[in-house]
Amino acid sequence: MTKNSDSPPFDTSSPDTAQTLLALLHAQAEVARLSERDQLFSTLLESVNAALWAFDWETRRVLYVSPAYERIFGRSPALVMADFSEWRDAVYPDDLAYAERSLGDVLLTGAVEDREYRIINAAGEVRWLSDKCFLKQPSEGDQRVIIVGIAEDITEKKQLESELQRLATIDVLTQSSNRRHFFECAHQAFEEACADDTPLSFLLLDIDDFKQINDSYGHQEGDQVLQRIADSGKNALRRGDLFGRIGGEEFAAVFPGCTAEVAEQIAERLQREIQRLSFNHGQKMYRVTVSQGLTGRVESDEVLDTLFARADEAMYQAKRQGKNQIVQG
Ligand code: GH3
Ligand code: MG
Ligand code: MG
Repeated sequence: MTKNSDSPPFDTSSPDTAQTLLALLHAQAEVARLSERDQLFSTLLESVNAALWAFDWETRRVLYVSPAYERIFGRSPALVMADFSEWRDAVYPDDLAYAERSLGDVLLTGAVEDREYRIINAAGEVRWLSDKCFLKQPSEGDQRVIIVGIAEDITEKKQLESELQRLATIDVLTQSSNRRHFFECAHQAFEEACADDTPLSFLLLDIDDFKQINDSYGHQEGDQVLQRIADSGKNALRRGDLFGRIGGEEFAAVFPGCTAEVAEQIAERLQREIQRLSFNHGQKMYRVTVSQGLTGRVESDEVLDTLFARADEAMYQAKRQGKNQIVQG
């Protein structure tokens, strides 16, 4: 007997066939579910702003990098998967030793989460990366030493951090060190001078009759005077000297490696430069003078505060003696 073409190709009433069909339907559903999950993973990897990667430690091959690699490095993921030196070549030369060493450290520690280094992207820009890495546990049938990681561009965060750091250490008006930062650095320089038994000098500078400038020409004009005095102070310094605004119209400087006699020459130069400055308020031209107190490290058991107090006393003596002068204490 020939089969009726309208009848199903197999006998669905048979329990075996029904089971096969059911299994087929399950398999189809599973395939659809996996493909949906695949798509979900792809979408996730596309949209996440960090590059995920996997690296075979022994063969030194990059097994996988996610699409964000291209956004961060500006180069195709295929290139780094073909040749690991693509990554090495992109790392900022000063950071390469650290970047490689910290990658190897993961073999000992299992995870290196504070790994940060710079790269030069394809556009030639220096970018900061946070590139955490983890050792993948070997699984049955795969004994390879695989390191997996997540690399994220943190350049903007780094810039913000350094701007916050800068704002915490400067006096915004004069762009010189603020009091806290100046004394922190001064203490460090003083300790180094004590340890090496080298000279160090401390200078205090106070603007004469500054209140009159504010009273005559206004606070804003006073601010401009402060800025120009600070500029003169910074210009007079040598590399390695410290300078800061430690009060309203009071500045201080530290000269490491300098006796008070040598420092006095710098102070005199500064004194002359400030005397030469001229300020204009409308049609009126006026000048400003300063009083300076200077002292050097003399005894081995001194502390920085002793020098500060001596320079302060010397500065007030300069005021008592008629201002516009330098006194050594
Ligand atoms: P002396 O010669 O004895 O130092 O007199 P002086 O007028 O300079 O000193 P005094 O301590 O009497 O006045 C200092 C003035 O500095 C008073 C204060 O209003 C002003 N001042 C402090 N901080 C600032 C600031 O940031 N901007 C301006 N424009 N003025 C300030
Ligand atoms: Mg003053
Ligand atoms: Mg003062």
